Amino acid sequence: MSQPPPPLRVDDVTVRFAGLTALDSVGFTVTPGSVHALIGPNGAGKSTCFNVLSGLCRPANGRVLLGDRDLTRMPPHRIALLGVARTFQNIVTTAGTVGDNLMLGRHALSRAGYTATALRLPGAVREQRGHRARAREIAELTGLGALFDTPVALLSYGDRKRVELARALCLEPRVLLLDEPVAGMNSGERARTVEVVRTVREELGLSVVLVEHDMGLVMRLADEVTVLDFGRRIAAGTPDEVRRDPEVRRAYLGTPATSDTPSPAHQEHIA
Ligand code: ADP
Ligand code: MG
Repeated sequence: MSQPPPPLRVDDVTVRFAGLTALDSVGFTVTPGSVHALIGPNGAGKSTCFNVLSGLCRPANGRVLLGDRDLTRMPPHRIALLGVARTFQNIVTTAGTVGDNLMLGRHALSRAGYTATALRLPGAVREQRGHRARAREIAELTGLGALFDTPVALLSYGDRKRVELARALCLEPRVLLLDEPVAGMNSGERARTVEVVRTVREELGLSVVLVEHDMGLVMRLADEVTVLDFGRRIAAGTPDEVRRDPEVRRAYLGTPATSDTPSPAHQEHIA
């Protein structure tokens, strides 16, 4: 990564759906190169916030700034090209090999037009070769190197989730938005994904915004945490500060919990 990512600033964002306020004047800043976790109970507005950041949802009020660029009314593909890439909560890999899926991520960056690529004109062929080499590097970085030519359909659940992450990285993002990257994984797969997120953050120097229910993972991985509840920001700070916050314990962890594990009632709530 040649230059550090610009700060991502969410400023006073409000989103309403037919009488329901999904986000109520929410603000936070993602420090360049940090892992910023967005946590909160089910329905708190986390996915809505990701939708605003990636251009899928226009807020009624407020702004999203990447450095001095205003992303608020940009279409999703322009936001992606400015360096904000996301994964979705549910797996959306396609058929084909791991390499094919990563090349889909590279496609948005292709300078050669579709016709030139289809006709295999020399410039286009060279460009495709370059993209494939970079896709391989990203596969190595995300622990998928040995699986590059394997059909995605044959992969384990955890590896498929990491293909999504790798495909988002193929856009060369400066900010990576991860929506529940370890959801449904067993503990071994979770640990691997944590390592991969750490590695890509360090190697690529990007910022990561993380929506995650696994509190243990948030505590281990995040530099800063923003806590949402019913669309409002109820707390923000380091993982330790947030963990001790009484409002957070009440809303998210359940009182008077002393462990990192959500109360059984809450676990049901977030299932
Ligand atoms: P989270 O991801 O934190 O679980 P969401 O952002 O998905 O929460 O949802 C926040 C609130 O907004 C919820 O009450 C949800 O039902 C509502 N909501 C989300 N998307 C829509 C939509 N497209 N139309 C209507 N209501 C929605
Ligand atoms: Mg959600």
